[in-house]
Amino acid sequence: MEEKKESLNFIEQIITNDLETGKHEKIITRFPPEPNGYLHIGHAKSICLNFGLKETFKGKTNLRFDDTNPSKEETEYVESIMEDVKWLGFDWDNLYYASDYFDQLYDWAVMLIEQGKAYVDEQSPDKISEQRTNPTTNGIESPFRNRPIEESLKLFAEMKEGKHDEGSMVLRAKIDMNSPNMHMRDPIMYRIMKKHHHRTGDKWCIYPMYDYAHGQSDYIEGITHSICTLEFEVHRPLYDWFLDQIDTTGKRPRQIEFARLNLTYTVMSKRKLLDLVTNKYVSGWDDPRMPTVSGLRRRGYTPESIRNFAERIGVAKRENMIDVGLLEYMIREDLNKKANRYMGVLDPLKVVITNYPEDKTEEFDAKNNPEDETAGTRKVSFSNTIYIERDDFMEDAPNKFFRLKPGGEVRLRYAYFIKCENIIKDADGNITELHCTYDPESRGGQSPDGRKVKGTIHWVDSKTCVDAEVRLYDRLFLKENPDDLDENETYLDYLNPDSLQIITAKIENNLADAAVGTTVQFERKGYFCVDKDSNSDKQVWNRTVGLKDSWSKIAGK
Ligand code: ATP
Ligand code: MG
Repeated sequence: MEEKKESLNFIEQIITNDLETGKHEKIITRFPPEPNGYLHIGHAKSICLNFGLKETFKGKTNLRFDDTNPSKEETEYVESIMEDVKWLGFDWDNLYYASDYFDQLYDWAVMLIEQGKAYVDEQSPDKISEQRTNPTTNGIESPFRNRPIEESLKLFAEMKEGKHDEGSMVLRAKIDMNSPNMHMRDPIMYRIMKKHHHRTGDKWCIYPMYDYAHGQSDYIEGITHSICTLEFEVHRPLYDWFLDQIDTTGKRPRQIEFARLNLTYTVMSKRKLLDLVTNKYVSGWDDPRMPTVSGLRRRGYTPESIRNFAERIGVAKRENMIDVGLLEYMIREDLNKKANRYMGVLDPLKVVITNYPEDKTEEFDAKNNPEDETAGTRKVSFSNTIYIERDDFMEDAPNKFFRLKPGGEVRLRYAYFIKCENIIKDADGNITELHCTYDPESRGGQSPDGRKVKGTIHWVDSKTCVDAEVRLYDRLFLKENPDDLDENETYLDYLNPDSLQIITAKIENNLADAAVGTTVQFERKGYFCVDKDSNSDKQVWNRTVGLKDSWSKIAGK
C-alpha cells in the first residue's frame, strides 16, 4: 500500500488524502471545454486526467461546456467535442452547460451587489484596465466604485433587459484595488454582449466572465477537484473569493493546477488552429496534420495510443515541451500489435521475370500479423510482372547493398529469389524496367542449395494490384516551438511547405475493398489507414507513421 502511494502523482495524493481525512466521500471531476473549436491533444491529456481520476477513485466526471462567450461558440463544436471524448473511450456521468446556470449566476450577482460586494462601472474596458496599473503600484478606484447599491441594482437589471449598449458598462466585483494580484483588482463579472447564444438564444444580453462563472459552476455541480492548467494558478484567489461569497456548506471545490501539454513542431492554441483552418493552410480541423483529436483519428491514431501517451507523460507541475516523437512511438507500439501486414509499393519500378511463364499466376500464403497468431493468413498473388520499390534497386551499388543490383539476387517476400539480368532505360537514361530471372527452386523464399541471399524486399503483382493515392505527411511546422518567435515573426513563417506529399502507390489486391478507417502496416514502409476521401473510383490512404523509431533512440531507450 505504502509503495503504491509513492507512485501516485501529486493530484492523486491530494485526492487520496481528501478521501482518507473524510473531506470527501466521493470525488467528482469535470472536463470543461469551451465550445469554440475542436479538441486537441492537450485537451485529450486533460480528459485522460479527469476521467482517469474517476476510474482510479471510483468517482464521477462531468462534461461541462463552458459556453459563456456566445461570440465564438457553435453547436458544431459541441458535437465534435462529445464525439472526441467518446472516441477516446470515456463516458461522462452528467452533461452540463455553464449556460444552464445563467439564472443562478445572475441571482448570485444581484446578491453580491446587495451586499456591497459588486458594482456597475460605466467606464470603458480600457479605462478599467488602465486603472489597475501594475502589481507594485496601488490601483486607482473607479469613480463608480462607491455608488449607491440601489443604483447598481437598477443599472444591472437594465443591462439584463438590454437597455444599454455593448461596452457602455460592466459589473465588477468589489475586492481590492491594491492587491498585488491583478486578478483581485475589482475583476469584471459581467459584460454586455448582444449576441445570439447557441443554447439560450436571445434570452440574455449580458454574459458572465470565465472567472466568475467557472468556480460557481463547479460549486453547483458539487465538483470536488477542479483541475486546470497552470496559467490559472494566479486566478485561484479569485476562484476562492467567489466561492467564499456563496459557500455555506464548507464542501467546496478545490482548484488544482497542472502543466499544460506542449508538443514539438505544432501549435496548440485553438485560435491558431482556427486560423490554419479558415485560411486554408490545412483542409479542416480534422486534417491529418493537425494536433486535433479528430486529425489524429483521421491520421490513424487509436484511442489507446493517445491514452497511453497521456499516461506516459504523467502530470507535471512545471511547463515543458514533449517530443512529438513520443506520440509517434505510442501509435507505432499499438499498431505493431494490432495492424495486419500487407504489401504496398509506394514508388513502383516494374520488374519482368523473363523465365516465368507469361500466362501463369500462383498464390502464396502470407501471415497477416507475426505479432498475433489469431490474425490468420491470406493469399498473395504472383505473376511474371511485379512492382518493387524503386529504391530497392541500385545500379552502382556498394558491397553492403543487399537488395537488388545488377547480377545480384534478392528474396521476394513470401515468393522466390530473383536475379537482375537487365536494366531498361528511356531516352533520358531513367530506369523504366528491370528484367530478372527467378529460381523456381526457391519457392516460399527458401534457399534451395544453401546459398545465401541476404536481402528481402516487398513487391506487388502487377496483374492484380490496385492503384491507390497515398498521402505522406510530415510535420506541419519546421520549428520545434513555433510559438517561440522573434518580434517580427509569426508562427505561420514556420509552416512546412512540404508537410503533405501525394503519391500513387500500387497495393496488393487484398486491400481493394478496405473500408474507411482500416489501418494496416505496409511492410517495411509504415502504418497506413484508409482516408474518408476514398470513393468507388479511388482509394486514399494516409500514412499514420513510418516504421523507423526516432524517439527511443533520442531517449536512449
Ligand atoms: P486553448 O488555449 O487551446 O484555446 P483552452 O484552455 O482555452 O485551450 P478550453 O476549452 O478552455 O481550452 O479547455 C478545456 C480544458 O482543457 C481546460 O480544463 C484546460 O485546462 C484543458 N486544456 C487546454 N489545453 C490544454 C493543454 N495544452 N494541456 C492540458 N490541458 C489543456
Ligand atoms: Mg479556456
